This record gives sequence, C-alpha cells and structure tokens, in this order.
Amino acid sequence: MSQSEINLYESAVRQWNAAADLMALEPWIRTILGQPKNELMIHFPVRMDNGDYRLFKGYRVQHNNILGPYKGGIRYHPDVHIDEVKALATWMTFKCSLSGIPFGGAKGGVQFDPKQHSEGELRRLTRRFTHALGTNIGPEYDIPAPDMGTNAETMVWMMDTFLNAFSAQNRYSQSGVVTGKSIECGGSEGRDKATAQGAVFTLEEWASDNNVDLSKATTVIQGFGNAGSWAARLLHERGTKVLATCNSRDAIYNDKGIDVPALLDWYDQGRELGHFGGAETISMEDFWKIKCDLLLPAALENQITSRNAEAIRTRVVAELANGPVTPAADRMLASQGIDVIPDILCNSGGVIVSYFEWVQNKKSENWELEDVDQKLSKRIRKAYRAVAAYRDQARVSDRTAAYCVALRRIQAAYRQRQIFP
Ligand code: NAD
Repeated sequence: MSQSEINLYESAVRQWNAAADLMALEPWIRTILGQPKNELMIHFPVRMDNGDYRLFKGYRVQHNNILGPYKGGIRYHPDVHIDEVKALATWMTFKCSLSGIPFGGAKGGVQFDPKQHSEGELRRLTRRFTHALGTNIGPEYDIPAPDMGTNAETMVWMMDTFLNAFSAQNRYSQSGVVTGKSIECGGSEGRDKATAQGAVFTLEEWASDNNVDLSKATTVIQGFGNAGSWAARLLHERGTKVLATCNSRDAIYNDKGIDVPALLDWYDQGRELGHFGGAETISMEDFWKIKCDLLLPAALENQITSRNAEAIRTRVVAELANGPVTPAADRMLASQGIDVIPDILCNSGGVIVSYFEWVQNKKSENWELEDVDQKLSKRIRKAYRAVAAYRDQARVSDRTAAYCVALRRIQAAYRQRQIFP
C-alpha cells in the first residue's frame, strides 16, 4: 500500500476532481475550491490534574462558505493532523451542498487521546480550545459539532465557554454556535442517532433498488461509538442480523446474530466489548472476511484499502465513517460488483439534523422526534435519488455522481454571486 493511497487530503481532492472533470466545472471555481479558505493551527496550554501544564495542538480548517456558514465536527484523536482536517473540511463542503442545507464546510480537532484523560482535564482542554478559537467560530460564521472522540458533553462545554464571552442580554442568541448539544442545553431530538438514522434511510433506498429485504439481511459494523452503535441498534430493530462489530481494541462475532440490546447494555456500563458473553472474539483480519449483505465502516478513515478489499464479501459498503475506503480499494470493490454508498451521502444525517438544531436554536423552537425523523428522511432520500439519477444518466459511480450533484449547486451559487470585487 503506497503512502499516496492513504493521504486523506489527496484522496479527497482526487474524488471531487473526478467529478469536476466529468461535468466540466468552470476552471475558476475549481481554482477556488482547490484549497481551504482558512487553516488555523493553535497551541494552547491546559492545566493537568497533577498541577502540570501541557501544551496541546488544535486545528480548525474552513474549506468553503459560498453556501452558508462553515460547518463541521471537532475530532479528539492522537492521529489528528492538518491533512486529515483539510480532507474532512473539504468533504463537509460537498456533504452540505449535496444535502441542500445552507452551510459550507469546515472541520477541527485536537491531537491527543481523550481516553487517557479525566473528565476535568477534558473539560479544561475543551474550554481552552474554544477560547483559543475565539471569534473564528460563531452561530453565523462557523458551527462545530461532535466527531470522533467528542460528544454532546463536549459541545455543551464549548457552547458554555463561547456564551460566557457575551453579556447576559445577548448570551442566548449565540447558543447555535455548536450543534450536537444535549437536549437540556439546546440540542435537538434525534441528533444523537442522526448519522446512523440517515445511513439506514439510504440503505432502505438502496435495498428497494436492489430487491434486498433488510429484515432478512446480515450486517457487519466496524466501530461501536456514536455512529456504529446507533446503526447496530436501528438495523437490529428492523430485523437485520448484526453478525459482528468491533472497537479499537476488540472485534466480536456471532454467526446467529449478536443480541444488540444486551450488548448496548453491557457496553454502556463501561465493560469491555471483548468480554461480552454473547459473541466470540476474532482478529481484525477475520473481521473483514465475514460474508454479509451490508458492511458498515463506522470508525475512521483508510480502513478498506488495497490490502483487505479483495477479501471483502458483501453487497454494499455504507460509509458511516468519513473516507473509510481508499480510491484504490474503491476501484477493487467496483470490480467485485460491490456497491458503495459514499460518505458524503451516507453519513450526512448528522449534519442534516445539526442544521435542524441550528434552525430550532434560531427560532427558539423544540421539534418532536417524529418531525425530526420525518424531515431527515425526506431530505436524505431526496439526495439519494438525485445521486442515483445522476449515476444512471452519466454511468458513473455513486461517489462521482454525489460529487457532481454537490458541485452543481456550488457552481450555480458562484455563477450567480461571482467573487467580490
Ligand atoms: P466515536 O468516537 O463515537 O466512535 C468511534 C468508534 O470507532 C469507537 O468504537 C472506536 O473504538 C472505534 N475505532 C477507533 N479506531 C478503530 C480501529 N482502528 N479499528 C476499529 N475500531 C476503531 O466516533 P463517531 O462519532 O461514531 O464517528 C465515527 C466515524 O463517523 C468518523 O469517521 C466520523 O467522522 C464519522 N461521522 C460521525 C458523525 C457524528 O455525528 N458523530 C457524523 C458524520 C460522520
């Protein structure tokens, strides 16, 4: 596997450029999209529990905002680096465009392992990072959300830190500065499951096109965090058998199907996935070889590569993670007749419901879960249909079709607005 196969930013550029070539995107628009608008790299100190001070490195990359305020998650992970954040920010631009929501693309992160820190250290780090970001974020400018290693609690700490820079009179007009907050602190119903729920809606569309009965299907899910565990729960509720799942430590397998509610109960109590009694532990090498109907990478990027793509035996790869399939593996999966629901479509439920949260914050409204689910369903199915129509008409992959649909909207906005002056 070559280094270029796993350079995430190169992969992102290659993906959208293939679409730009196909649709003959105007060269000046290609130039503008060629690099992020802003790349912020900050070092900030945090006081540790033992009284020591440690310096952390944080990033915020703002790729493009022609369609609206920058929008994108914050990742806490030891491998966070500038090329990764640039790739993730670029994907957000296309994801928001494809979903038809009025946001641009951004992403941020801090390079450290959150599992090695106490709650107090995580809170102080998040507050210092938010303070260091300062006016580079804001409800009408750039709106962070959770990603790997961050959650609703992290977003509430970010919001609270940001709000405290405003006078009491203006404070609550700013609560849309982040999305993915807890319900009590201004979050939306359905945001916790949104990424997985959106993916399930896309799988329903795929299943109806391919005569697959999801209630008789089998699935394998890589990652058991927010996206992966919710996907396991929602698919299990639809009758799909979850044969295997894993986290960064263990992979588990049960050929009769894992009892997902029992596993969630076990895991929520802070117990090890690998010690769950209802499944056997297996190696990651064997994990990728399991025969299933739906394969859901829901962990991190570059997981399906030229090394393991050939061994994969599934009908569809639904990309809950961002960038889990390298371009080389993409070609291999296509030649094996395996469909791929691309990340900018498949996992867009998260940002779609983030948009709903932002709208609710602006209007001081609280929507019912059924309303959120129904609005998400409508929007993501519409995006799926637009991608499928483009794919059939242009005879390209779903990924290239998704970028073409996204680029069409961005191109229209640039043509109408031009650049100032
Ligand atoms: P998370 O931190 O909640 O969960 C990540 C999971 O992946 C954990 O179970 C972790 O143990 C596992 N993992 C990490 N490294 C692994 C490895 N090497 N092998 C196997 N498992 C590994 O993160 P999340 O929010 O669920 O995000 C997962 C993916 O989904 C990321 O790519 C993220 O960008 C994408 N995503 C998340 C959202 C969201 O709303 N949370 C939205 C869109 C896309």
